[in-house]
Amino acid sequence: MLVKKRKLHHKKEASIAQQNVHLIAVKCECGKEILLVPDLKAMAEAIDAHVKEHCKRETNPEKAAAESERLWNLLVAAVFEKAAKEAEFT
Ligand SMILES: [Zn+2]
Repeated sequence: MLVKKRKLHHKKEASIAQQNVHLIAVKCECGKEILLVPDLKAMAEAIDAHVKEHCKRETNPEKAAAESERLWNLLVAAVFEKAAKEAEFT
């Protein structure tokens, strides 16, 4: 996953973002860690790419869709939980 570090304009945001890039990751149920980045699009792409990894083994399209939704919910919930916890310390 590529993170464009030069994208942020405010110095304060940039320093928080850099800390976050190094400190925060969420763990999927399979053990894979997905880094939290301050770029929502990049974050969504990282989650999407990982969810697809899970689902490509499932040949039944209905099951694949259900599994995809389940994992999205799981990972997005984990992301928000981590982000909320981190926000308490900043
Ligand atoms: Zn996983």
